[in-house]
Amino acid sequence: GARIGILGGGQLGRMLSVAAARLGFVTHIYEPGANPPAGQVADRVSTASYDDAEALAQFAASVDVITYEFENIPTEALDILEAHRPIRPGREALRVSQDRLTEKSFLRDLGLMTAPFADVTDPASLEVAIGEIGTPAILKTRRFGYDGKGQARLKSPGDAAAALADMAGAPAILEGFVEFSHEVSVIAARGLDGQVACFDPGENVHRDGILHTTTVPARLSAAQRTDAVLLAARILNALDYVGVMGVELFVTPAGLIVNEIAPRVHNSGHWTQNGCAVDQFEQHVRAVAGWPLGDGQRHADVVMENLIGADMDRVPELAIERDLALHLYGKAEAKPGRKMGHVNRIQRKS
Ligand code: ATP
Ligand code: MG
Ligand code: MG
Repeated sequence: GARIGILGGGQLGRMLSVAAARLGFVTHIYEPGANPPAGQVADRVSTASYDDAEALAQFAASVDVITYEFENIPTEALDILEAHRPIRPGREALRVSQDRLTEKSFLRDLGLMTAPFADVTDPASLEVAIGEIGTPAILKTRRFGYDGKGQARLKSPGDAAAALADMAGAPAILEGFVEFSHEVSVIAARGLDGQVACFDPGENVHRDGILHTTTVPARLSAAQRTDAVLLAARILNALDYVGVMGVELFVTPAGLIVNEIAPRVHNSGHWTQNGCAVDQFEQHVRAVAGWPLGDGQRHADVVMENLIGADMDRVPELAIERDLALHLYGKAEAKPGRKMGHVNRIQRKS
């Protein structure tokens, strides 16, 4: 069968590998970190760094197509890889989503609603930004933030200095605080032929900045549901996207506001593993391999719950719970804040 290269060996790379293997593909992981969860299930692992041009070229030559589980791949590495094999989703999706300022500008230019935002580089630009946007607001590093890391909240303009200190000199954006009623996400897929398919939107609850649960169906009106799916399709088409994308949305009385996009399979799409015939991982593999997209119709109500750190102690009781599917990532150490696994609770319909 064809060979799929995956950049990144975390749980997303692991679940992509499993899905790929089920379709008969050979998988090759590129992951410099020690003991990558994906390494346990992939056919091959390269442990070289992203600075190692020779290792990157060898990796690329050993596969037919390259995909990734994280968006912060260095540009130089992408240049080397792309000289050998196609990278899907493509470079434009990475360029746009690696930087919150670029991302928000792209979304606004598409005509979608975002939180008000402004570029912040120093105390003076922060003062200007607060003047435009007001408070409450959130200061976020433009790059490398995840699970709420690299963010500082400003309740009032007096919090400016402390918030800027939290950025530790990194370029940042100030975002106006959105008064949302709840958060939802759309896991959307686009094939090589331009076909688009979206999973049913899920409703997300965060705890300590980390996704805690995703519930399907989300609380959305029929109109909101249609809007969510259409705006996701608009984003994918604009990027000539190939693969699965996570689109995070705030639900407000004024409409759906796009928070951020992730050019990869997404934690809030894990429910699809037990709620759909074809889950987000298989859908992504199909897309990047140039297959037709599969049937992602939802056949059950599902609540996904992340197992973080010490939640692992609950595994024995979870393992005997009815209508529950356990997904563990094979990580050795259950550190606080570390994603160790998740469960999908299926709501029985009959
Ligand atoms: P992820 O782990 O999803 O990549 P992240 O670190 O990139 O998270 P965001 O998604 O930007 O961070 O923000 C994390 C959470 O903080 C959001 O899901 C939302 O609950 C809240 N939040 C972020 N931006 C805003 C905003 N402008 N207004 C109100 N709440 C916000
Ligand atoms: Mg993010
Ligand atoms: Mg987010």
